[in-house]
Amino acid sequence: MKDTQIPTDMSPFLETEASGHLRSLLRSILGSVPDAMIVIDEAGIILAFSRAAEDLFGYKAEAVTGRNVSMLMTTADRVHHDRYMDNYMTTGEKQIIGIGRIVQAQRASGESFPVELKIGEARLHGRRLFTGYLRDITRQQADAHRISEMQAELANFSRLSAVGTMASAMAHELNQPLTAVANYLEAARDMLESPDPETMDLVREALNAATAQSIRAGQIVRRLRDYVSRGELELRPVTLTEIISEVVSLAKIGLGGRVARVIERVDENLPVVLGDRVQLRQVLLNLVKNAIEALQDTDNPQIWISAKDTGSGRVLISVRDNGPGFDLSEDHDPFNPFHSSKPGGMGLGLSICQTIVEAHGGTIRLTSPSGEGASFEISIETAPGAPSP
Ligand code: ADP
Repeated sequence: MKDTQIPTDMSPFLETEASGHLRSLLRSILGSVPDAMIVIDEAGIILAFSRAAEDLFGYKAEAVTGRNVSMLMTTADRVHHDRYMDNYMTTGEKQIIGIGRIVQAQRASGESFPVELKIGEARLHGRRLFTGYLRDITRQQADAHRISEMQAELANFSRLSAVGTMASAMAHELNQPLTAVANYLEAARDMLESPDPETMDLVREALNAATAQSIRAGQIVRRLRDYVSRGELELRPVTLTEIISEVVSLAKIGLGGRVARVIERVDENLPVVLGDRVQLRQVLLNLVKNAIEALQDTDNPQIWISAKDTGSGRVLISVRDNGPGFDLSEDHDPFNPFHSSKPGGMGLGLSICQTIVEAHGGTIRLTSPSGEGASFEISIETAPGAPSP
C-alpha cells in the first residue's frame, strides 16, 4: 500500500506531540480507514486526506492539503459550510458535529454526488481540528428512489384492483335484491291471472316486498359508496332477530331457486350486536342463497338458521343445509375469492361475507365435515352495555 502523505500543515501538531510511532499510526489509519476521512482546521483548511478520500474525490492528498475544504463541495453546500463554521465558532451550536447529514460533494472531475457526512471534533494545542467521515450514498439513493417508484406503482396497481374488486362486489351484492324484485313482480303478475280478494292481498304483499327490496338495493349502493369514501362501517346496535326473520321470508320464496324448508331457531331475548344492518343482512342472505343453490338436486331440501347467546359476550349464528356440502380435500379455502362451481358465478359471495364479518370484529367458519351438508357459523360480539331487545 502506498504511503498516504501526512501533510506538512499537520506536522507542527505531530512534531511537538507525537512520537515517530504515532506518526506511522496516523499514516496507517489514513491509508486503511474504509470511509473517506478528511481532517480540517478551524479555518476549513485541509490537514489530512485519507486514501479512501483520494479514491472518492479523484484528488491526491498533496493536491488538496493546505487548501480550503470548500473545494470538495458543490457551490450550494460551500455557502452552507461557511455559514455552519461561522455559526459554530461564534455560538458553539452544533448543527452537524456528532449528528451527521447528507451533503453534495464534488469530485475533481466536477461531478457532484451525495455523501453522508459525519464530523468529529478534537482539540490539539488549543486549536480545534475537525475530522469528517464521508460515505458515498449514490447507490443507496438510487435504490431508495427505485423502491419508492416501485411502491408508487404498487399502490396504483392495488388501487386499480381494489376498484375492480369493488365493482364486481357491487354487481354481486345488487344481484340479490334485484333478483328478488323480479321474482316478486313475476309472482304478482301470475297471481293477477285469477284475481280474487284473497290473491289481491297476496299481490299487495308481493308488491310491498318488491318495494322493500328495491329500497334495499339503493341502500347497498349508498352503503358501498360510503364505505369506499370513508373506508369504514357504520356500526350501530342491531337486532339480529329482525334481520334473520327477513332473510327467512326471502328464503321461503326461494330467491329464484327451488324452495327449501326453512327451520328458524332464534334465542328469545337475543342480545343486540354492534353492526352495520345492511351488511349483516347481506352476509346471511348470501349464505342462504348459496344453500338454496346447493340444494337444487337434494331430496327433501332443508335449511336451518339459528342464533344463540353464548353467554360470554358473543352471539353465534349458524346457517346449515342438507345439500352436498364442500369437498374439503380440494386445496382452496372456500372463503378465497373467485372460486365458483356455478355457471356465471363469481365466487365472491363467501369472501365478501368474510370481509364484512371480520370488519365487525367477528369470525366466520365452515364447520361441516367434507361432503356433508354445509354449515357456517358466525360469531359476533354483543354490543357493550346494550340492552336486550
Ligand atoms: P358464488 O356463489 O358466486 O359461486 P360464493 O363465494 O358464494 O360464490 O361460493 C363459492 C363456492 O362455494 C360456490 O360456487 C359453491 O361451489 C360453494 N358453496 C358455497 N356455499 C355452499 C353450500 N351451502 N353448499 C355447497 N357448496 C357451497
